[in-house]
Amino acid sequence: MNQVIDVKEKYNHFIDGKWVEPINKEYFEAYNPSTGDLLGLFARGDAEDVEVAVKSAEEGFQAWNKKKPYERGQVLNKIAHLLREKKEDLAYLESLDTGKPLSVSRFDVETCARYFEYMGGVADKILGEVIPASNEHLVYTEREPYGVTGHIVPWNGPITMAGRSGAVALAAGNSIVMKPAEQTCITTLLLAELCIEAGLPKGVFNVVTGYGSEAGEAVVNHPGIRKLTFTGSVKTGVHVAMKAAERVVPISLELGGKSPNIVFEDADLDAAAKGAMKTFVMNSGQICCAGTRLLVQKNVMDSFVERLIEEVQTVRVGNALEDPTIGPVVSQEQLDRIQNYISIGEKEGAEIAYGGKRLEDCQLANGYFVEPTVFKNVTNSMRIAREEIFGPVVSIIPFDTEEEAVEIANDSEYGLAAGLWSQNIHRCHRVAKQLQAGQVYLNDYQPIGVEAPFGGYKKSGIGREKGLESIHDYTQLKTIISKI
Ligand code: NAD
Repeated sequence: MNQVIDVKEKYNHFIDGKWVEPINKEYFEAYNPSTGDLLGLFARGDAEDVEVAVKSAEEGFQAWNKKKPYERGQVLNKIAHLLREKKEDLAYLESLDTGKPLSVSRFDVETCARYFEYMGGVADKILGEVIPASNEHLVYTEREPYGVTGHIVPWNGPITMAGRSGAVALAAGNSIVMKPAEQTCITTLLLAELCIEAGLPKGVFNVVTGYGSEAGEAVVNHPGIRKLTFTGSVKTGVHVAMKAAERVVPISLELGGKSPNIVFEDADLDAAAKGAMKTFVMNSGQICCAGTRLLVQKNVMDSFVERLIEEVQTVRVGNALEDPTIGPVVSQEQLDRIQNYISIGEKEGAEIAYGGKRLEDCQLANGYFVEPTVFKNVTNSMRIAREEIFGPVVSIIPFDTEEEAVEIANDSEYGLAAGLWSQNIHRCHRVAKQLQAGQVYLNDYQPIGVEAPFGGYKKSGIGREKGLESIHDYTQLKTIISKI
């Protein structure tokens, strides 16, 4: 375990290019999920702090928009450069804060750098159109920033989520007030500080920490915030969307999932078992698009489950800083939730084929560790097949025919992602077309690429993050009609 950087005892807000104490002088505690130890104190922001942050963001917006688009792109590229330079420190802190294995945190910092690099290239290519509406008029469109954008992010990928919506908002010329999840504030605060070091004018990227019901609510309700983006649970997403509707403010929603991963009889079963294991254990199952409903054709069920269990047996669970396959889940609350779902599954009549227990050997006793858990004989009506558990738990559901697989896959209120495994290319594309999901993976379950649009069908969300498509969500369109 190499300690790379000291963790501060106390973290303030980052507003107007500097560290700012909370006006109410209150702080809350956050813990290291690998050990249960206190990690630090964080400013408990409320409406007064958000007021200061929005004022700063309004001024920052003016400064940011004095720059030419290509100059804004250059700053974003510098941010990417600094992220890579500080990768080890940031990854170390991300692992302490979230329980992610170090190599996953390094990957996440790199992904954040890629968001800024990609959007750095996009900043001077946000184009309008000339529309042939009349011979006497020149009609053209421009994409303009909203002004101050409010970002509410979750704890399962703090630095990637901050980069995902942050980089595109900045590329489009907006300024930001961001509220990280109360469990995992550190790298979002440091990202904002690093942005200033890279040349972002002060006030363009502000971070207010605190609870959702206090700081989060204040961001959602502030009249100076002209566009919102929320990543988190459906329940909170619906609540904030209703608040946004009262103010008639556009909102992007990136919500939960219960994604199907379908294994057909003609699949490469070894590859499918590897892919199925990775998607449900990665980040200790705390991934919105994880393939947690594993639909398996009945005639290959036994041989597939055997292979899957062999794969799951290779998973090493441990302290994030020892770089295991998976670390702990993020909090005691999340651990309780997962254990509760495991007992619900057993009561519903599903059978545990692997795992199911909290890990409590002496090294791990105080952390929030749970075994990867495989349920078989699940039906799609059980709660463990319908509700998002957000832990390393997979539910295997049998099916007979392709039609039945599609029907079960689509029988969910969610529609974030879906995967399928088959060596028949016709079947792959035929089924992909019928699946109700924002991303579909064929013979590899991986939401790769900052370039590829990502977002939900149905209750999994509204709007798209990543790729060029996301620019539409962070700009408003103006049509100009000029007599010639
Ligand atoms: P959550 O909804 O409880 O919290 C998310 C964020 O919202 C946190 O920052 C929280 O403080 C804030 N919040 C809570 N109440 C609020 C309120 N009243 N007003 C404003 N903000 C408020 O979600 P969570 O449990 O922290 O995150 C896990 C969820 O996020 C899962 O459902 C997961 O699928 C989803 N998620 C989705 C994506 C995606 O891209 N679709 C990515 C990551 C996570």
